[in-house]
Amino acid sequence: MTPAGQTLPAPVGVFGGTFDPVHHGHLRAALEVLDSCGLAAMRLVPAGQPPHRNRPVAGAEERLRLLQVATAGEPRFAVDESELRRAGPSYTIDTLTVLRAALHPQPLCLVLGADAFLGLPDWHRWRELAELAHLVVMHRPGAPLRPEGDLAQLLAARRSDDVGDLRRRSAGVVRLQPVTQLDISSTAIRALVRDGRDPRYLVPDAVRDLLVGSSSYRHSVEVQVRA
Ligand code: ATP
Ligand code: MG
Repeated sequence: MTPAGQTLPAPVGVFGGTFDPVHHGHLRAALEVLDSCGLAAMRLVPAGQPPHRNRPVAGAEERLRLLQVATAGEPRFAVDESELRRAGPSYTIDTLTVLRAALHPQPLCLVLGADAFLGLPDWHRWRELAELAHLVVMHRPGAPLRPEGDLAQLLAARRSDDVGDLRRRSAGVVRLQPVTQLDISSTAIRALVRDGRDPRYLVPDAVRDLLVGSSSYRHSVEVQVRA
């Protein structure tokens, strides 16, 4: 906490995901969080080898390229390649530890959709995430925010509806953030492209142009490894 009346610099957002591929649901929600929370910038962090899910359909370089073209027109978005360059599984706790050390005392906001937030207790060292960053949880269609158990406790203990709290301390607040509800998912876009249908208007045009010519997405096979 800062002394009374003082505030810290505007926070930096950290928005992780597989981005397989990036779509307007990600981009619009990230922009609205940036504005609503008064963030200085939003770092989009594609996961190299996500620990919680099947292998991405597209390789790291292709997903990175799609994110780069998708965000090229928005100077407050930055694509952070650190998880792609790190060997082994991509753990958010490692990414936040590096940023925390580099940016201290600037606040960090870990940005999550409601579905990701509900799965948080499966993440590596998940309780420590809120020591390094605030958590900003975006509403998402199909993922009602009804946390239970440890997650409900975290929310009860740390929730704040005062956006100013994100600048009064460097980490530790949980904020629930309404965003325009766009029922778009990468899973649905992969299915469209695989079926030879057009993902136009679900993704930026520059992403669409790359997707329709992408052999990884056109010939993808989704193997459900986990139930
Ligand atoms: P997939 O269907 O492959 O899981 P996805 O659309 O869920 O893809 P991810 O890369 O898994 O995209 O998501 C990255 C982050 O973005 C997560 O925190 C997720 O909750 C959030 N997110 C994805 N799509 C939306 C959306 N339409 N609205 C709000 N948040 C979203
Ligand atoms: Mg997802």
